[in-house]
Amino acid sequence: MAPGQPQSEKPHVVILGGGFAGLTAAKALRRAPVSITIIDRRNHHLFQPLLYQVAMAALSPADIAAPIRGVFSRNKNVNVELAEAERIDAEHRLVALDHGETIEYDYLIVATGMTHFYFGHDDWAEHAPGLKSAAEALQIRNRFLRAFEMAERTDDEYDRQAWMTFVIVGAGPTGVELAGTMAEIARRDLPGDFRHCDTRQARIILIEAHDRVLHSMDAPLSARAKRDLEGFGVEVRLSSMVTGIDDDGVDIGDERIGAKNVIWAAGVKATSIGATIGAATDKSGRVIVEPDLSAPGHPEIFVVGDLASFTDPETDEAAPGLAPVAIQMGRHAARIIAADVKAGGSQKKRPTFHYRDRGELATIGRARAVGVVFGKHRVTGLLAWLLWLVVHIYFLIGFRNRLMVLFGWAQAYLRFERGARLITGEETDASKEGPIIRNNPREQSAESLEEIAE
Ligand SMILES: Cc1cc2nc3c(=O)[nH]c(=O)nc-3n(C[C@H](O)[C@H](O)[C@H](O)COP(=O)(O)OP(=O)(O)OC[C@H]3O[C@@H](n4cnc5c(N)ncnc54)[C@H](O)[C@@H]3O)c2cc1C
Repeated sequence: MAPGQPQSEKPHVVILGGGFAGLTAAKALRRAPVSITIIDRRNHHLFQPLLYQVAMAALSPADIAAPIRGVFSRNKNVNVELAEAERIDAEHRLVALDHGETIEYDYLIVATGMTHFYFGHDDWAEHAPGLKSAAEALQIRNRFLRAFEMAERTDDEYDRQAWMTFVIVGAGPTGVELAGTMAEIARRDLPGDFRHCDTRQARIILIEAHDRVLHSMDAPLSARAKRDLEGFGVEVRLSSMVTGIDDDGVDIGDERIGAKNVIWAAGVKATSIGATIGAATDKSGRVIVEPDLSAPGHPEIFVVGDLASFTDPETDEAAPGLAPVAIQMGRHAARIIAADVKAGGSQKKRPTFHYRDRGELATIGRARAVGVVFGKHRVTGLLAWLLWLVVHIYFLIGFRNRLMVLFGWAQAYLRFERGARLITGEETDASKEGPIIRNNPREQSAESLEEIAE
């Protein structure tokens, strides 16, 4: 049993993952008569929707991350443990952790999210990092900035072009955001800083296997996003399947694109812990959950957030992998547990989860975004971008001194200056989790973080 395991008589709720779903569940339960243990392999909650801004040097990791311990420092019934959960023994209600300990639970909330998927080509990972952690964002930033340094240094024209060719595989929201921002930086922010290479000559190539970008949105919005990307100078390659990636470039069938910098934004799969519950999974490895979000046959286990494969029984619509879905799922599971505890056992009729969709926005670059808000209203261009900005500033409130973040953004967007344009350290192995984010009371507070989950 883990040393931190609470000895109280209260039901023990173990939450695997301190992302949007896990953090929200813990916050919703912290005043209930339960003891809670949150287990995460990182010591911080990460606001993933703004990770690309760290990768593109507009923000620093601490701007978009909050130490989980700090969030719950005033909640004595919440214990936080830095560990990787390796296996769930659903029969005995135990979770095995990477340091060899096991932890018992009365209720388990599994919220470990997704990880990168290279379609069976795991060797591509070392050449084409994905974007899911602060360490990966810093690795991408380092590679991006270093590429221009190398282009500046070389006399070989072919080499220079290869250093200044950036390929992004996958034109979902992350690929689109990265491509648009990279093009902007190369054309607007960097030119004055270099003497030998003309950063405006950089090629930003966005490759997508589908026949349109942002294919989760409708066709007119995809078309608009493509036009905006091309307006920024991005080369968009649709219906193109990447067949090889190495240190010097990318293959699309017989075609070779020489590029020293490739970013993976194409595939995701479920984190492996979900499968150890023993319940059925979908083709991405996500656990197919019951209408109340519990794992079939285990009313005491809830699977929430990106890891849950949920189809609304009333609308037949599948819940998308988005932060608001994770937040709403985390809250739903917490409410059921609180009601169970109050009733002294599992309720006969539990409420069904329904996702309340308030919209989706994807930014493309300075003053350009597309999306759908308030049900079915399409928004594009400056208006969509302003909405995106307001939504993200609102959600960021708890993460750092808001003025600092606003200042960083204003500098990046209005003055074409990126305050975080630093190449830091050696190229890190971003598959290792990090960095450790320390609590800074001036920057974070439990109260303000409350607003993140609202
Ligand atoms: C780059 C990027 C941009 C995005 N942009 C948007 C956007 O604009 N809008 C939007 O709505 N959504 C966006 N998303 C999706 C959104 O971030 C996810 O839907 C959301 O984070 C899912 O929340 P979650 O709690 O299920 O998982 P996560 O937030 O991924 O949290 C999972 C947590 O589990 C931990 N963990 C994983 N495995 C283990 C283990 N075995 N043991 C212990 N801990 C573990 C991780 O460290 C992590 O803290 C984006 C995602 C990415 C990667």
